Amino acid sequence: MRNKVMAGGEENNNEGKNSFTVLVVDDDTVVRMVHRMLVTSLGLKVQEAKNGKEAVDLHINGASFDLILMDMEMPIMNGPTATRELRAMGVKSTIIGVTSCTFESVHKDFIEAGLDHCVAKPLTIAQIASFLLKSNNN
Ligand SMILES: [Mg+2]
Repeated sequence: MRNKVMAGGEENNNEGKNSFTVLVVDDDTVVRMVHRMLVTSLGLKVQEAKNGKEAVDLHINGASFDLILMDMEMPIMNGPTATRELRAMGVKSTIIGVTSCTFESVHKDFIEAGLDHCVAKPLTIAQIASFLLKSNNN
């Protein structure tokens, strides 16, 4: 049994039916809150990390997630570096880069770090649902 932590203290009535866990990695408190609300409204478990290093440390400590929503620009460790480290550790989770930058070249660099996909902020509930379908098919 993997160690999964549920944030927010909300009741999850889909326990057993849907055990997807999502890690929201973002240095912006508001973005983390919005993304957490979207994830929990889908009945999924969510955990948060404030930067890439926290995300890597969670995995070093044995945590695993079905889906990781990874911000690009963060202090201490940015999204591309964290994504490279996670892939080097053998993490197979679906990792979606989430960025406010619209330049294709920036997305390309981030994707090459090991992302499955890169999208613009803020995420929509439909996008998160589609990522879950993809990770379910893996
Ligand atoms: Mg940021």
